[in-house]
Amino acid sequence: MITDRAGALAADSADPLAGFRDHYAIDPAGPLYFDGNSLGRLPAATPARVAEVLAEWGSMLVGAWDRWIDMPERVGDRIGTLVGASPGEVRVGDSTTVNLYKLAVAALDARADRRVVVTDAHDFPTVRYVIEGLADARRLEVRHVASDPVEGIDPDALGDALAPDVALVCLSGANYRSGARLDLPAVSALARDVGAMTLFDLSHAAGAFPVGLDAAGVDLAVGCCYKYLCGGPGAPAWQYVRAGLHASLRQPIWGWWGQAEQFSMGPSYDPVPSATRFLAGTPAVLGMVAVDSGLDALCGAGIEAVGEKTAALVGLLARRAAERLVPLGARVASPTDPPRRGGHLALSHPLAREAVAALAERGLLIADFRPPDVLRLSAVALSTRYVDAWDALEHIAGVLGELGAPAPAPSDATSS
Ligand SMILES: *Cc1c(COP(=O)(O)O)cnc(C)c1O
Repeated sequence: MITDRAGALAADSADPLAGFRDHYAIDPAGPLYFDGNSLGRLPAATPARVAEVLAEWGSMLVGAWDRWIDMPERVGDRIGTLVGASPGEVRVGDSTTVNLYKLAVAALDARADRRVVVTDAHDFPTVRYVIEGLADARRLEVRHVASDPVEGIDPDALGDALAPDVALVCLSGANYRSGARLDLPAVSALARDVGAMTLFDLSHAAGAFPVGLDAAGVDLAVGCCYKYLCGGPGAPAWQYVRAGLHASLRQPIWGWWGQAEQFSMGPSYDPVPSATRFLAGTPAVLGMVAVDSGLDALCGAGIEAVGEKTAALVGLLARRAAERLVPLGARVASPTDPPRRGGHLALSHPLAREAVAALAERGLLIADFRPPDVLRLSAVALSTRYVDAWDALEHIAGVLGELGAPAPAPSDATSS
């Protein structure tokens, strides 16, 4: 257990993943970065990888498509290794929001005799809005599962919302504010018991900790590639469809990239019987090559090891927050039970907005603020050191003290 700054430095020296930090473009004089759950860092190799594709475009012109055309499958299968999917189940393309829409429609059409969608009123806006829009267009009932803004969803409470009238259960694998994890195997089993489909948004989970989609019995999932996967701003997203559902589900956008015999340009839509049918149009090659590059470090380290370090970092942040920030009026707004915590720690404090702004202004720390009073700290395993987590909490304590929160207790810790 890390009890002082020297202990944090020792933990970094002993960290088997420490070398992976070199995979990222990190300015040693720059601020500590704890907003990787909004935008993951730039992998050092990505600019050259993107430049390579630009060069292929320049020299090979349309002939370069031979090199690019299988990227949705190739990059998808690599993401599959991080989320516990089998080859052929994950495909890359479109945005998270669009994928959520496509897969929600596919699920609702597969349960057309049912009128209820179960969601979480505390979920990320795009998840709520997509479901709200579909419910409006199709005259469905949205049923909110009982959830706690900090602790998340208790699968036992989910049972109350589940009945044979439920077509789809659509929830996030980790809450975007508190980080609370969803128990995917338990929720999937409960949904299956009533014949409902499951669709999970794993934007705040994929790349932070293992989610084991196949083992959990999940039907459908989506996630973005620019948070823990470090694919860059606006990177194309991924989608997962359980193998047994490929041939039977239909998505609403009948595009030529889901078509069997795509280049025979046939008279009508006949989707390929694989997960590729959930693609729509020409994929964003430049974005996908950056996603591919971002996966190198994660795939090299392995998601089990990444998940262990994520948990250790979040644990350290939580412990130090209790010691240093709770006396200054902060509250830990993430689950208290470590296995229920996700890839970041949330704190609430009346001065959170001012503190986040002051920390950034002074070049000390980039954290993120969610209204009304939540400060989030990401624990990105491969680029965050234990000493960074230690120092981040010292910086926050210092700034909160200056902003007029109760005076910090004297500490033997020094911050860099
Ligand atoms: C970040 C995030 C998204 C992003 O959706 P986009 O379509 O990429 O804007 C979606 N869902 C969740 C839960 C997220 O955290």
